[in-house]
Amino acid sequence: MRTPIIAGNWKMNKNPEETQAFLDGVKGKLPESSKVQTVIAAPAIDLSTLVAGAKGTPLQTAAENSYFEDEGAFTGETSPKALKEMGLDYVVIGHSERRGYFHETDEDINKKAHAIFNNGLLPIICCGESLAQREAGQTEDWVASQVEAALAGLSADQVKVAVIAYEPIWAIGTGKTATADQAQAVVAHIRATVAKLYDADVADAVRILYGGSVKPANVKELMAKPDIDGGLVGGASMDPESFIALANYQ
Ligand code: PGA
Repeated sequence: MRTPIIAGNWKMNKNPEETQAFLDGVKGKLPESSKVQTVIAAPAIDLSTLVAGAKGTPLQTAAENSYFEDEGAFTGETSPKALKEMGLDYVVIGHSERRGYFHETDEDINKKAHAIFNNGLLPIICCGESLAQREAGQTEDWVASQVEAALAGLSADQVKVAVIAYEPIWAIGTGKTATADQAQAVVAHIRATVAKLYDADVADAVRILYGGSVKPANVKELMAKPDIDGGLVGGASMDPESFIALANYQ
């Protein structure tokens, strides 16, 4: 059975002091990681505070991005090697905001996935369609092509422990959640895509999250779907009480 994941994505919000206040707020109130794994993805400037505060608690930690080289003359980038040395667990890659505002390509995301694994971290790989693509009936093909490109060259063992997040762009930060049925349909298609690219064992193992206006009020219905293994949550992950409610959805 796949362990569910509730992952927060703070985006460009919170400073180290606010990060500490969040950690104090959730202390002792998150489920054991064998039951529901909890993860916070925070801005690079908050990661030392996050890692220090999460130590000895069930909370796992993620960066919101990293580069595909370990070190060198890449001003402003974050090294996956340094993230590993700091004690991070995951790195979110391919978020639609990174693809859209910062022009990240499928090829960049694939290189990042390899660099993340090579450094002993795990990727949370995001994919998702725009409203225009959904209305044009292109959702499944588009999302499958993003997943195929992101996973290119990864081994079956790597994909088994990777996390994929389906985030329809039209549902992110809009309050417009995909219905649980819509989310389940695309997530199932992603799992079928992984089965086609690898095999049924890999598809059964990989965890696939839904993201886009997930909140305490809708998390239960989403999580009841057979292929949805968790949520990648922006807005509703920033307040400790809300994150605690999400994490304890069961
Ligand atoms: P949201 O963001 O929950 O605020 O819609 C989700 C995300 O972008 O990961």
